[in-house]
Amino acid sequence: MTTTFVHADLLNSHYVEWGAFLRDADRWSSQQIADYQLTRLQHAVRVANETEGYRERFAAAGITPADLRSLDDLRRFPLIEKDTIRDRLRDFSREVPDREYVTTGGSTGVPFGFYRDKVAFARELASKAHQYHRIGWREGDPQLVFRGLPITSPDHVQMVPEFNELRCSSYHLVPEWMERFTARAFEYQPLWLRCYPSSGHIFARWLKDTGRRFPAIKGVLCASENLYDFQRDLMREVFNARVFSHYGHYELAVLAGFCEHEDTYHVLPQYGLAELLDPDGRPVTTPGAVGEIVGTSFLMAATPFIRYRTRDYARLKGVGCAACGRPYQVWDRIEGRLQEFIVTGTGRWISMTAINMHDDVFDHVAQFQFHQKERGKVTFRYIPRETCGPDQLMDIRRRLMIKLGDDTDLRLEAVSEIPPTARGKHRFLLQDLKLAFGDA
Ligand SMILES: [Zn+2]
Repeated sequence: MTTTFVHADLLNSHYVEWGAFLRDADRWSSQQIADYQLTRLQHAVRVANETEGYRERFAAAGITPADLRSLDDLRRFPLIEKDTIRDRLRDFSREVPDREYVTTGGSTGVPFGFYRDKVAFARELASKAHQYHRIGWREGDPQLVFRGLPITSPDHVQMVPEFNELRCSSYHLVPEWMERFTARAFEYQPLWLRCYPSSGHIFARWLKDTGRRFPAIKGVLCASENLYDFQRDLMREVFNARVFSHYGHYELAVLAGFCEHEDTYHVLPQYGLAELLDPDGRPVTTPGAVGEIVGTSFLMAATPFIRYRTRDYARLKGVGCAACGRPYQVWDRIEGRLQEFIVTGTGRWISMTAINMHDDVFDHVAQFQFHQKERGKVTFRYIPRETCGPDQLMDIRRRLMIKLGDDTDLRLEAVSEIPPTARGKHRFLLQDLKLAFGDA
């Protein structure tokens, strides 16, 4: 690295301007936020109304953009499903400069594609960076990244100078390669580790089990997957650093990250408007209650997302964070996506958040994964560690059954390998059942 190094994102004026705006807006009052959100909502709805698809839907609901005069008026607009946009993408999109077609695998494995423009993407990156700044991350800090993108070099490692990051393949989180990644980390001395929670957890587990050391880092930045408590706790212990997470999605409608002090999801109000809705479509207002995340994007101009049903669920903590003082909507956990539920024999839904236990029940397995093909039946695949004998397996079964209940058939299956998904994620649950909203 030379002294003239500049992080590539800082060369993008849209990124820099949006970052500066978010810094200025970081201490806005509730009133300032509400005023801003109303202006942005009105704009978003007007823009959406330029598309045939949204115009039809608004007309069918007997509403026009002019009817949006308060934040509450948004609820008069129809919700929109992923399938609706997917099936008629052209009708729900606008021609804007520099738009590109992007796809997301989604938790269901069904690809969903839409158009994103360059400005939206730059603002997305700047918004995530803005949240990382809360815990001291700076553009250009050396970081080791476990990436879901294939790395084709023979050592599965790639140095990317424009971002000052060392990328290691998350498809190769097996002892032999983790050993080499660790050696590279000591040469490189990263300040941050960026990863999927599943990758970071596998790596932390291996470091702990083998008694390996890792260079001192400032924090672990998790993305793209729900961070479970047991993952956070292990990574915090092994790396002796803050584990930071956020909720977001490719549709750029909702972004919610931890703050300086608390491991709760602070919904960023300049990014989009997030609603939490109960199964009847009413807003969730009781702390502790769970609702579906419905988002309206302030960023997306090419394919607008207005009251978009994410099929992700969050638990409301309340409005305003006492620790940092931001008057934002705060969620204390992401309850899981639809594909992160196990369905028992009598049709109960068990969130993976509930399954993943805090205790030492999984200490005797190197890695595990649930697989459900049929209602009421679950296979627990595991890579046994040396300490894993019949007693430990019985213990695992007993403790899982407490969570699953006696209406579920549990099969334990030892395997030598649990392959990652096409995107390099290590899923805890392969859910083959087609789960639909409202079944829960
Ligand atoms: Zn806070």
